[in-house]
Amino acid sequence: MEINLVSDTVTKPTQEMLHAMFNAKVGDDVYKQDPTINALEEKVATMFGMEAALFFPSGTMANQTALKLNTQPGDEIICDKWSHIYLYEAGGTAFNSGCSLQLIDGNRGMISAHQVKNAINDPEFFHAPLTSLVSIENTTNKGGGACYDIETLKEIKQVCTQNNLKYHLDGARIWNAMVAKGQSPRQFGELFDTISVCLSKGLGAPVGSVLISDAKTIKRALRIRKVFGGGMRQAGYLAAAGIYALDNHIDRLAEDHRRAKELGYILKQLPWVASVEPVETNILIFSVQPYLDEKIIIQKFKDKGIHISAMGHGKLRIVTHLDYRQVMHEYVLNILPKLSV
Ligand SMILES: *Cc1c(COP(=O)(O)O)cnc(C)c1O
Repeated sequence: MEINLVSDTVTKPTQEMLHAMFNAKVGDDVYKQDPTINALEEKVATMFGMEAALFFPSGTMANQTALKLNTQPGDEIICDKWSHIYLYEAGGTAFNSGCSLQLIDGNRGMISAHQVKNAINDPEFFHAPLTSLVSIENTTNKGGGACYDIETLKEIKQVCTQNNLKYHLDGARIWNAMVAKGQSPRQFGELFDTISVCLSKGLGAPVGSVLISDAKTIKRALRIRKVFGGGMRQAGYLAAAGIYALDNHIDRLAEDHRRAKELGYILKQLPWVASVEPVETNILIFSVQPYLDEKIIIQKFKDKGIHISAMGHGKLRIVTHLDYRQVMHEYVLNILPKLSV
């Protein structure tokens, strides 16, 4: 049995999802004539209580478009030091938007209103870049799937409003946050200027992200997506997978969260594990004892058919997902205490 716990992006479409894809009605989306993409965009906008949405081939492109929409070259963006937009989008903020980042030393990838306030440059001080955007990640990726309380997000929103800053949510795993915290999409839609959400992580679609905002902003986003090369033609086949995922794969994320917590519970008791970070959603980060080489641990897992990833500094990561079934979970729970480390 091969069990891939490296990421929640490794899932493959289910039979039912493939069926929905095969039967999709499609058209040329560059002319906005793909009925399935139009339906997906409308569905997501409605879910979040926002005016409009736009389908993207990747989360990176949706985020990069949002950053471009909310800034001018030379501006500065406030975000956590572990943000995906900083660490894993290949310097796109500088390349695409000509902006600098003000990195905050947050808590598991989460920042506070107080920290945001202190990170804003005085707009009258013309020597410094103009702060124009705050970007939040929820759940946090490198922060181990941590998620925000709505109260904190409201406090940050208030700082944004007082200081004339735009507010972006990188919601690649917003579905996990909503399920874990019992929050609704509308609670996020009310707060943010732009939101990017991913269909190909926990939800199990093969491709796709969606950017959500007001109608005017999404109209501008259409041109930026075109510049980035993200205008697709009969991509309704992909949007159909997204619609299927939204209808069928959100509630079940609770299972992924339960499994991640159960794995964390077992790991905590093993002598070669130094610590396990709090497990809130589907990402589990743990540290091995300092005398151990994490590469050797990864190999020990691999020898048992279990694939996990290293994050550096002795940290390892496990991510649960749609294709990590209960039989696999029972196998892993059983094998963990027996690993000879
Ligand atoms: C995965 C991810 C993205 C987007 O990634 P793509 O691989 O480009 O779809 C954006 N933000 C976060 C936090 C992510 O985990």
